[in-house]
Amino acid sequence: EAFNAAVAGAKVLNAFIVETPEHALAAADAADAARAAGEASKPLAGVPIGMKDLFATKGVQTTAASHILEGFTPTYESTVSQKLWDAGAGMLGKLNLDQFAMGSSNETSAFGNVISPWRRKDGANAALTPGGSSGGSASAIAARLCPAATGTDTGGSIRQPAAFVGISGIKPTYGRCSRWGTVAFASSLDQAGPMARDVRDCAIMLEAMSGFDPKDATSLDLPVPAWEAGLSPDMKGKRIGIPKEYRVDGMPAEIEALWQKGIEWMRDAGAEIVEVSLPHTRYALPAYYIVAPAEASSNLARYDGVRFGQRELPDGANLQEMYAATRAAGFGDEVKRRILIGTYVLSAGFYDAYYTQAQKVRTLIAQDFEKAWEVCDLLLTPTAPSAAFALGEKQADPLAMYLNDVFTVPASLAGLPAMSVPGGLDGAGLPLGLQVIGKPLDEQGVLNAGLAIE
Ligand code: GLN
Repeated sequence: EAFNAAVAGAKVLNAFIVETPEHALAAADAADAARAAGEASKPLAGVPIGMKDLFATKGVQTTAASHILEGFTPTYESTVSQKLWDAGAGMLGKLNLDQFAMGSSNETSAFGNVISPWRRKDGANAALTPGGSSGGSASAIAARLCPAATGTDTGGSIRQPAAFVGISGIKPTYGRCSRWGTVAFASSLDQAGPMARDVRDCAIMLEAMSGFDPKDATSLDLPVPAWEAGLSPDMKGKRIGIPKEYRVDGMPAEIEALWQKGIEWMRDAGAEIVEVSLPHTRYALPAYYIVAPAEASSNLARYDGVRFGQRELPDGANLQEMYAATRAAGFGDEVKRRILIGTYVLSAGFYDAYYTQAQKVRTLIAQDFEKAWEVCDLLLTPTAPSAAFALGEKQADPLAMYLNDVFTVPASLAGLPAMSVPGGLDGAGLPLGLQVIGKPLDEQGVLNAGLAIE
C-alpha cells in the first residue's frame, strides 16, 4: 500500500512522459553480471537515470513534449544517451520538458505541466513550477525518483530548474557534449549537461556525457578531463568576479542576500573577491530572444508531416494545406510564437534591424566576458531573479516569463560553462540557486567553486 501510494504521489508530479523500467533493470542486471564475472565496474554501472525527452532514444518514443512528434520512435540513439549507456547507466524513462525546450516553467509541454515536489511553508498551497525547460529532470531528481538526469540548456534550461528545486546542474562549454540525436532548438546555443543531487554526481555524469563526436560539426575535438578526480573545494588563489550589472533593478532582497552569502562562502574557501563589469549584460536577454527564435524557426521547418510523427491530412488537402494543418495542430502556442518571431527577424525587411544587431550584441557580450577574465577566474551570480513561482502565475505574460532567464542567457550566448548549485532557502522555505560561470573549457573550475558553495 505504501509503495502504491508512493507511486501515485510520484505520478502527480508528471515528471515522466514515458516510463522504461525494463531499460533500467537491464542495466542493473548487466552491472550485476559484470561484478559476478569480476570485471572492472563502469563509472555508472547500473545507475538508473532519467532522460530528458529531447534526446533521441532508439526504440523509445521521443517527443520533445510536442504533439507534432507524438508516436515518433527513433531508429537511432543520440550520442549523449549512447555514451551514458556505454558507461553502464540505465533509463527509467523519458522526462517531461517545455515543448521543444522553449520555456522556463515546463508549462508549454503538450503532456501537461510538471509539478515541483516543493511547497511554500507560508501556507500558500499553490502548486509550484519546477522551472524549465528541463522541469521533468528537476522534479524527478528533487523528489528522489532518480539520482541524476540529463538536461539541455539553450538559455538556462539546466540551471534555472536546478535552482528552483534545490539540486545542481551544469551546462558545459558549448561543444563539450555532442548535439547529434538531440532535438534541435537553437543550434548555436543548445548544449546538453547533467542534473543531479550534488556537484560530484554532476562531475561523474558530465564525464560520461562529454567527448568528441565526428557527427556534430561543432563538437570539440578535445580529451575529456577527469573532472571527478580533480574536484577540490579549495579556492585559494582564485579570483571570483562579481559582475555589478547583475544587480538588476527590482532584485528581491532575498536574492541579494543569497548572493552576499555566496560571496562570503567563496572568501571562506580562500578566494579573492573582485568586482567586475560586464557592460552589455542588459542587452543579452533581447539578443537571446532574437537569436534563439531565429534558429528555432529554421530548425523546426523540418516538422512537415512527412518525415516525423503527426500528420493532419484534411479531406482533399494538397501538400501545402497538409503542412499547414499538421503544424497548426502539432505545435503549441509558445512554439508558434517563436516561429513567428524567428521568421520575422529573419525576413528580408527586418534582418539587419534585428538579427544582425543581435549577432553584434552577442559578440559584445562574449567580449565582455573575455575582458572580465583578465581580472578574475570565475564569476559568481544568482541563477534566477526569484524562487520558483506558482504554476499559471506567468503563463499569460511571455515577457515576464522571458525575464526569468536574465542571469542565465549571457553565458549561453558566449558558450561558457556555467553551473547552478543550491545556495539555501528563501523566507517561504523555497530553494535558491547560485550560478558559477567559467572560462571556456574550465568546467573543473566551475565544479570546484560549486563544491565550495555546496
Ligand atoms: N527559458 C529559455 C527559453 O525559453 C531557455 C530555454 C532553454 O534553455 N532550453 O528559451
